Amino acid sequence: MVKGMKVLMTLGMATFLSASLISCQGSMNTKAANALPDSALVEGWEDGLKKEEAIGHKDTVGRGMLAKRLKEPIYIPVDTLSPLRKDSLEIWIKNEKRRIRDSVRLALDKFPKHIYFTFDDGPLLGSAAIDSISRAKNVKINVFLVGKHAYMSKALKRDFELYYNNPLVECYNHSYTHANNRFTTFYSNPISAYDDFEKNEVELKLKHKIIRLPGRNIWIYDDVRRVDLQSGASTADMLYTNGYRIFGWDVEWKIHGLTGKPIQSVDEIYTRIRNYMDNKSSMEPNNVVLLMHDDMFRNKKGQQLLSTLIDTIQRNTNYTFEFMRNYPFRY
Ligand SMILES: [Zn+2]
Repeated sequence: MVKGMKVLMTLGMATFLSASLISCQGSMNTKAANALPDSALVEGWEDGLKKEEAIGHKDTVGRGMLAKRLKEPIYIPVDTLSPLRKDSLEIWIKNEKRRIRDSVRLALDKFPKHIYFTFDDGPLLGSAAIDSISRAKNVKINVFLVGKHAYMSKALKRDFELYYNNPLVECYNHSYTHANNRFTTFYSNPISAYDDFEKNEVELKLKHKIIRLPGRNIWIYDDVRRVDLQSGASTADMLYTNGYRIFGWDVEWKIHGLTGKPIQSVDEIYTRIRNYMDNKSSMEPNNVVLLMHDDMFRNKKGQQLLSTLIDTIQRNTNYTFEFMRNYPFRY
C-alpha cells in the first residue's frame, strides 16, 4: 500500500503528523538515510571499523550508527493526492517503527555485548566478599565508593584497600557523605554537593572522573543527558562541566542485606538482564549496567547468589564484563 508513494509533504500534513508523533518519536525528519537497508548499516559499520584500524584511533564514522538508528525518528512517505486516513497512518507508523527496531536489533546482535556489574555505597560489610568473588571468577567489577564509610573502622579501611589494589576492580565516586541520605537537601546546594564529590576524590585518591549520584538515576556523558529527578540535575551538570561523567543504571538487583534473601531471584535478574540486552532497551544497546549494593553481600547466602549470577552469565552468554570507564561500546 505504501510502496510507490511520493516522498512529498504538504504543510498541512506536516502539522498533522507532528501532532500525531509527539508522544512517540519527538521531532520529525525526512532524512533519506532512514531508508537504508540493513546490509548497508552493517557494511557502513564495517567500513568505519576498517578506517579506524587504518588511522589507528577509536572515534570514527561507522561507530554508533546502529545505536543511533534506534533513536532516530522514522521516515514517512506522504501521498498528497490520496493522503492516508489518520488511523491507517498511525498503524503504518507503528509497523514501520517495529520493522526498523527488528532489523536494527538483528544487526546489533551480531556485535559483542557488554555487562557492567556496579556496586554502590562501599566500603561496607560485604565489600571483602565482593572483592574475593571478582578475583575467584576473574571478572571486572565497578565500585562506587563513599569516603565516609572508609573511615568508620579499621576493617572498612582495609576493605577499601582490597578494592583499591585489585586490578579487576575500578573505584569510582559516589560522594563522601552519601548526602547523609537527605538527598533533596543535599542537591539543593549544588556547590556544597560538588565539593562533597571533590572531597571524596581527594580522600580516596580516585583516579577516574566517574560519578554516580546518591539517590538519583542520572546519566550525563558524551552526547547523553538523562535526568530522573530535577533535584540533582544542577549538581550533575556542574560535575559534567568540570570533566566528570555521570552514570546511572539499567537494572537494579535488590537483596535483603541482613537475611541475604533476594527481592528478585537469580533467575529473575538474569532474565531481566537478557531482556534488556535482547530488546536493546538499555540506555545504550548491547551495554547493560546492573546496580547492586555492597551490603547485599554481607552474608553467605547473598554471596552465593552473586556467584551464581556470574556463573549463569558466563555459562549462557558471551557477554564481556567491563569497566564503566570504557562505557559505552557503540556499534
Ligand atoms: Zn548509594
